Amino acid sequence: MDGTFKDNDISHIVEADRAHVWHHLSQHKPYETTDPRIFVEGKGMRIWDQKGKEHIDAVAGGVWTVNVGYGRESIADVVREQLVKLNFFGGSAGSIPGAIFSEMLISKMPGMSRVYYCSSGSEANEKAFKMVRQIAVKRFGGKKHKILYRDRDYHGSTIACMGAGGQYERNAHYGPFPDGFVSVPHCLEYRKHEQAGAPDENYGVWAANEIEKVILREGPETIGALCLEPVTAGGGVITPPDGYWERIREICDQYEILLHIDEVVCGVGRTGTWFGYQHFGIKPDMVSMAKGVASGYAAISCLVTTETVFDMFKDDASDPLNYFRDISTFGGCTAGPAAAIENMKIIERENLLENTIAMGDYMLDQLNALSDKHAVIGQARGKGLFLGAELVEDRASKTPMSEKMVGAVVADCMQQGVIIGATNRSVPGKNNTLCFSPALIATKDDIDQIIGAVDGALGRVFG
Ligand code: PMP
Repeated sequence: MDGTFKDNDISHIVEADRAHVWHHLSQHKPYETTDPRIFVEGKGMRIWDQKGKEHIDAVAGGVWTVNVGYGRESIADVVREQLVKLNFFGGSAGSIPGAIFSEMLISKMPGMSRVYYCSSGSEANEKAFKMVRQIAVKRFGGKKHKILYRDRDYHGSTIACMGAGGQYERNAHYGPFPDGFVSVPHCLEYRKHEQAGAPDENYGVWAANEIEKVILREGPETIGALCLEPVTAGGGVITPPDGYWERIREICDQYEILLHIDEVVCGVGRTGTWFGYQHFGIKPDMVSMAKGVASGYAAISCLVTTETVFDMFKDDASDPLNYFRDISTFGGCTAGPAAAIENMKIIERENLLENTIAMGDYMLDQLNALSDKHAVIGQARGKGLFLGAELVEDRASKTPMSEKMVGAVVADCMQQGVIIGATNRSVPGKNNTLCFSPALIATKDDIDQIIGAVDGALGRVFG
């Protein structure tokens, strides 16, 4: 092979992949007898595999990423232009697309002020953790260093992010994790019967107050930050109950705790607002984002902070250690912000936030209609085009459907040429929520096709 790819080379590509590629999230034994799936081309909502089979993609690139859809020539054009002009300079220098995108981004995030560039969601979260630790050292004699994370939330694949990860079955093989990460309970109202003392009314405020209890137990003077997903993604597409976020903000203010919101999935339009937290009228102190920032056209992530957080790192310039002594090499790659600028322009030009709200409502209605027909759907939920359908063995006990059966539904849809996902549950061996996150360009016809496939799959698997 000379590095070029022609259709008739596909058997070689498959063999090269089988021989040398270590796939993410994969047990490789089955690839000894079956071909790995390789996607070759995409356009809009559709994607074709190595056998030429067309699929409609209901999960935006598998992992909630390709918000503006595949095959966007305008993004490729601006990235090409930028790379030819200047592809990279790392370290302390700025760049033209970096400056422009920061201005655009901050204009969508009232109250926020500074953008720190890096290249993955995990990395953006690590930057936030490091800032919290440094603020603790600088201002609180090292004491206010603990970071609270929530059961069922996920913040990334690095060792520290796993230490802050509430999907415990994913962490099982990778400890020990660093000290100073403390878990708080989840806020999934549908499963409140599993939480001792959960009330019938005002569950949201109660769930937030459960976090306050952990703060008081640990000592507020030891807690630097609370890190939460606005709508929990891989932990089950958990939309927060009413009153939850408002109470969370109050608690953080009361105990001088930074509120770090992980928008790696929800950020840049997924839920129908620019950011998930904007549904709840609250202001964060730090926001991490990645996937939708450039819809996968380039690897870019950002940690955005308020000016107050930023100022803490420049208040004593005579001390040579008094700045954020951190770098991300590929934070200096200009493809990321160049792609992000055009990605954001597309969302505005094509009114994709409005489409996300309208199509999200439509899709949730369709999922609810499916649940009238299929008793295995315990609850359909979500915001915008970020939706889930939790499957249960029976509605009264809410016993989670087995991972095997949920997997069979996903596989049946794949067979029909419809790619859907399934999320993780924080109990070993459970993975019981079907997941939908089509590109923000989805139409009613696209959604009907996806829902039709799920209907057929549920009928075949459980019928
Ligand atoms: N936070 C959340 C909420 C995520 O879902 C993910 C990835 N699925 C991450 C962080 C980590 O992002 P990355 O894989 O880019 O490191």
